[in-house]
Amino acid sequence: MELKPTGTWSVKDAAELYRIEEWGNGYFHISDEGEVEVRLKDKSLDSSISLLKIAKGLQERGMKLPVLLRFSNILDDRIQHINESFAQAMHDVGYLGEYRGVYPVKVNQQQQVIEEICRFGKQYHHGLETGSKAELIAALAYIDDPEAYVICNGYKDEEYIDLALRGISLGIQTVLVVEMPGETEIIIERARALKIKPNIGIRMKPSTIAGGHWTDSGGDRSVFGLDTTQVIAVVDHLKREGMLDCLKLLHYHLGSQIPNIHDIRVGATEAARFYAGLIHEGAPMGLLDIGGGLAIDYDGSCSNSSNSRNYTTTEYCVDIVEEVMTICKEQKIDHPTILSESGRALVSYYSVLLLNILDTNVFWDENHKEEEIPEVLLPALENLLYVKKMLTEKNTQECLNDLNYYREEIRNKFLYGTVNIRERAVAEHLYWSIIADIYKMEAKNQYVSPQIKELEHQLSDIYYGNFSLFQSLPDVWAIDQLFPIMPIHMLDKKPDRKAILSDITCDSEGKIDQFIGRNEIANTLSLHSIPLDEDYILGVFLVGAYQETLGDLHNLLGDTNVVSLTYDEEGKFQLHNELEGDTVSDVLSYVEYDPKQLESMIRTKAEKAVQEGRITAQQRRKIISAYTAGLRGYTYYETDQED
Ligand SMILES: *Cc1c(COP(=O)(O)O)cnc(C)c1O
Repeated sequence: MELKPTGTWSVKDAAELYRIEEWGNGYFHISDEGEVEVRLKDKSLDSSISLLKIAKGLQERGMKLPVLLRFSNILDDRIQHINESFAQAMHDVGYLGEYRGVYPVKVNQQQQVIEEICRFGKQYHHGLETGSKAELIAALAYIDDPEAYVICNGYKDEEYIDLALRGISLGIQTVLVVEMPGETEIIIERARALKIKPNIGIRMKPSTIAGGHWTDSGGDRSVFGLDTTQVIAVVDHLKREGMLDCLKLLHYHLGSQIPNIHDIRVGATEAARFYAGLIHEGAPMGLLDIGGGLAIDYDGSCSNSSNSRNYTTTEYCVDIVEEVMTICKEQKIDHPTILSESGRALVSYYSVLLLNILDTNVFWDENHKEEEIPEVLLPALENLLYVKKMLTEKNTQECLNDLNYYREEIRNKFLYGTVNIRERAVAEHLYWSIIADIYKMEAKNQYVSPQIKELEHQLSDIYYGNFSLFQSLPDVWAIDQLFPIMPIHMLDKKPDRKAILSDITCDSEGKIDQFIGRNEIANTLSLHSIPLDEDYILGVFLVGAYQETLGDLHNLLGDTNVVSLTYDEEGKFQLHNELEGDTVSDVLSYVEYDPKQLESMIRTKAEKAVQEGRITAQQRRKIISAYTAGLRGYTYYETDQED
């Protein structure tokens, strides 16, 4: 449906509409030319580059959309931000311990991410958190800093434990965190067998249950961690075995994306009490690991809604440091090194998904010229036409009710064969034209009723984007997460359509119909009519955390192309780490097809067709080459064929 243009439009209005300044955190802006720019270094103008220019440059190099862009400078900036925020908070309140970040590998396991965190994070001794053997195996290779920690969480078999212990012999500070009561026994046994003194941690179950989407990690029924009785049992076990001196760390994790600072504070207090208790039990301790949970303001509202947070990183750091310090003072114990396992807060801003719009389905176009209804069709439309005639600003609701009733009637008559296909087509069209009239009357009002909002949704266009929701934005599907979505160009022009987005999976769930709005969630996104002479490209922002590795192969749409962009020391932009997305042949192999065999099956079929005189030998050659080119191709919609 169409938005009425009013007044003049500037890029400031676009910034306001899409709220880019609120969620962009200084990394994303709109240029005077109406293009979204990313600022790579120190959020400075020099280091800014238009996403459209990047997309065009990639297309010239033969890399197709959709493409995932990664910005390692932004990752560096995030690492610096959290480390310096903790350092500052500790300095300001006179905290005597230190901060050590550990990045949870599961949040984005890509080799590039781990490599960059270990490289850039080294100056802060930023370490890694692993939740499985595979993650530990990657971490052991990349960590190269005797002062960084590798925190080993998750279920641990002998092999996992042995690897962590051997890490200690390599000079890596691994800590084995006991998550299950039974793990203590195996750790003691393996440590003795390998003659390596372990660093042991305990994961406690906080009784604090934080608000938000991902917070099942707290409370009595959380699947991870030890309750108080079990914590004491582990302490007694270690005492009996003479190994209490190995107990160094207390860990808890309230869950991810915790919107409310209050919950974070209460969690820290509970943990600090546990920590002090363990010291009084005789454990050396020294490390307090507060887990993840530091949230991202996806909708830019700065609120305690699940897509936002009501605090800044500084506030987060200060609150935790103060809480821990107060209890240490009261309990007369040394200030521990505080570790945190922030994942989302480190990597969200790092990636942007660019996708092109392939087509649109316009439900209602105001500029559409009404055609005269042929006389023969009029009797079937009598009731609808009556509603149209009676409609005034005072009886919109009544007309809406009647309208739905009469449409139902016509559909029923169609089922009984008393209304034909042409009559039904005209009736449906008439129905939408009256709906649009009602909407226009109502939209003038200050108060917009939920029913009218629903009409807006029903009248909105569908824009078909070249992407798979299940592959690239799984959390939108799974938990209705909001990500900022907007066009990356044409922002100097007023968007004239309202739309929802559909992907190309042909799954009815493969759509996005919740967007960032003002003070509320919007059910349509303002977009431009698609230009005739160029791609219309949307960016989906803040997708660096969790989306890449939760994605699946729905409809066999595979990984997208990926490319990294860096602003180097000399002030030049560098494209690197170009990764081709999955080919059709790749995704078919994931589900156990053998591409060679598929090709040979087609060859046989085509040969049979030649034998039976249905095609010529030349046609056979063309069919086979089209098939093999298909196998080698990108799984997404390709606009220009390779030559
Ligand atoms: C997932 C997870 C994290 C990461 O949480 P974020 O909110 O993304 O920072 C940290 N620690 C543990 C134990 C986790 O399971």
